[in-house]
Amino acid sequence: MKKIAILTSGGDAPGMNAAIRAVVRTAIYHHLDVVGVIRGYNGLIQGDMKPMDLASVSDIIHRGGTILYSARSKEFKTEEGQKKAVQQLKNAGVDGLVVIGGDGSFRGAQKLSQLGIKTIGIPGTIDNDISCTDYTIGFDTVVNTVLDAISKIRDTSSSHERTNIIEVMGRNCGDIALYAGLAGGAEAIIVPEKGFDIEAVCKKILQGKARGKRHSIVLLAEGEGNAYDVGKHIQQKTGIETRATILGYIQRGGSPSAFDRILASKMGSMAVELLLDDKTSRVICIRNNHYVDIDIDEALSMKKQFNDNFYELSQILSI
Ligand code: ATP
Repeated sequence: MKKIAILTSGGDAPGMNAAIRAVVRTAIYHHLDVVGVIRGYNGLIQGDMKPMDLASVSDIIHRGGTILYSARSKEFKTEEGQKKAVQQLKNAGVDGLVVIGGDGSFRGAQKLSQLGIKTIGIPGTIDNDISCTDYTIGFDTVVNTVLDAISKIRDTSSSHERTNIIEVMGRNCGDIALYAGLAGGAEAIIVPEKGFDIEAVCKKILQGKARGKRHSIVLLAEGEGNAYDVGKHIQQKTGIETRATILGYIQRGGSPSAFDRILASKMGSMAVELLLDDKTSRVICIRNNHYVDIDIDEALSMKKQFNDNFYELSQILSI
């Protein structure tokens, strides 16, 4: 192993830069050459790569987004696109590739492994929807961003005695809503994994009002509905004034939390060590506080486990 490449793909996530830094610095520490691929798989197909030295990753550990840019590439989903990418890597003399991204990006990495490129995946997405790992890079930061928003919305909801529906990202995964809702003391958490039971949510809000609560916060995962529609339903059923807040892209930015920086640093460094050990087709995960690597096929076949325990806890604590 003499030269490796790194790319970021899919939705960006705070902490991706910390992972890039860790890959580049660990590689240089082990006397490897490193190139950064610009704009994910699109850049790979076009051979858009730049050499990375120690200084190229200076002053980025605290920055959100990704200095390598990210993209979604339709062409890479085709066999022809994948073959072009392999040829570009061969032309550049690259022996190993580190892919930072979500499930879709791992499917791309799986294809490259099958075509003979040594490839390691690092889970980077705010959604926390990758089954093989307890946490993905970016998730902790987004939970803190949402928590900050909840605290602000709580002030105004309380003044006006309203119910506020806060819609958060996560695609079909309810983890952002669940963790932020639990940490923020939400009255109800609506997630795709549990479905939306309007009667139960309204009962909870009315029970709270009856015992003197001045306001309610409802966390809604984007995969289970729209905040405006849910708010209208709740207002009709309870007679309580509701407001809807869709947090949107504010959730994707910001300086990564300490947890995400450490996760990214360790995973980035491990990715290089695996390539040095001649490993390929592996995904790095954190499970029960241990960093492990597992086969990419196995990682992609796993089903995401929802944290029912946290969900039940949030219900008990919001009576
Ligand atoms: P996030 O969940 O944060 O959006 P992601 O990695 O899941 O991240 P996707 O848009 O699903 O985001 O995938 C990123 C890119 O990976 C796609 O644009 C495509 O180029 C590639 N990709 C996705 N699925 C496949 C596949 N089945 N085969 C080959 N490449 C794929």
